[in-house]
Order: sequence, then C-alpha cells, then structure tokens
Amino acid sequence: MGPQGSGKGTQAARIAEALGIPAISTGDIFRANIKGDTELGRLARSYSDRGELVPDEVTNAMVRDRLAEPDAAGGFLLDGYPRNAAQVTELDAILADAGTPLQGAIALDVPREELLGRIAERARIEGRSDDTAEAIDRRLAVYEEQTAPLLAEYASRGILLQVSGLGSVEEITTLILEKLREAGLA
Ligand code: AMP
Repeated sequence: MGPQGSGKGTQAARIAEALGIPAISTGDIFRANIKGDTELGRLARSYSDRGELVPDEVTNAMVRDRLAEPDAAGGFLLDGYPRNAAQVTELDAILADAGTPLQGAIALDVPREELLGRIAERARIEGRSDDTAEAIDRRLAVYEEQTAPLLAEYASRGILLQVSGLGSVEEITTLILEKLREAGLA
C-alpha cells in the first residue's frame, strides 16, 4: 500500500519475484484494458483519467476473478488493492472463501514533497494519460481520505509492515524483505 509515486508498483514486482508469487496490480489490469480498448478499459479510463477510483463492484469482481486463476493458488501479492473500506471487506470475503486469511500488508511511507517530484518525473518519461495535475492532486487526496485509514485497520490486526520508501529501489526491496522475514512471511 502506498500513494502514487511511493514506488509500490516497482517494489511489488520485485518482492513478488523474490517470493515466487504473482504480483497482481489492479492498476496494470485496468491499463491493459485501456490499451486494448475493451469495455472494462473504457469504463476504467473514465475514472482513472480524473484520479478517481473505479467503482467497487467492477474492481471487486475483477480481483475475485483474478485471484481464482491457478497461478494465485500458492499465494500472491496485491498491488493497489484494497484501496477503500469496502474493498477491505471484499478481500476478507474472497480470502475467507479460499480459507487463506490475509497474512501481511506492506505500507510504503514517502513524504508528499518527494512524491510530487517523482510523479512529475514519471509523467515526463511515461506520458500516462492519467498523470495530469488535476488527476494527480485528486489521486493523492483519494489516497489520504480512503486508503490511508486502512493502514490502522491492518495495524490493529497485527499484520501491517511499515517501510520507508526513501532510498534506492534495491535498498527498499531489502528493507521490505527483512520485514517480511521478521514477520515469518519470507
Ligand atoms: P495505480 O496504477 O494503482 O495508481 O492505478 C491506476 C488507476 O486505476 C487508479 O487511479 C484508479 O482509477 C484505478 N484503480 C487501481 N486500483 C484500484 C482499486 N483498487 N480500486 C479502484 N480503482 C483502482
């Protein structure tokens, strides 16, 4: 978990590889659909271009389907989900049905100033259609309002691993893997 620019996508891919499990990024699934101009992609784009969350019923159904794929049977790392309280509840329900409760939630901490610098840099390099100034502001606000409060929920369950997102990509991966080992998850 982490706001846009925290490095969560980069770290999710690296940690999943180290653990030998798939990284499942809801943002990537939406982007693939936007690129392929599917019905789901057109719907997702109408929200993501404004920095808003795609409606829960769409996102939740997509995650439920993805987690039922055979490659997720031995474990998985979610990137960008859950992002609000309703998604936490849905993920709990999906995992209860599978008999495998959530084992850990990794939160990357990055100060806002640093986030803004990184996002501007990425917008220059990648030219993502959802990296407009308004969408970025909105996305960070949505994170603060809806996603950041979820950390307290996972902390109260004793499964929150908080890691500083400042440093090199390699340093942060090492830190996360250390925390996962301490928690018996790697
Ligand atoms: P991300 O790459 O994780 O920043 O996701 C890009 C965009 O996809 C977000 O700004 C949302 O519009 C949408 N999205 C990704 N994950 C979710 C989610 N869990 N719930 C709702 N919308 C999402």
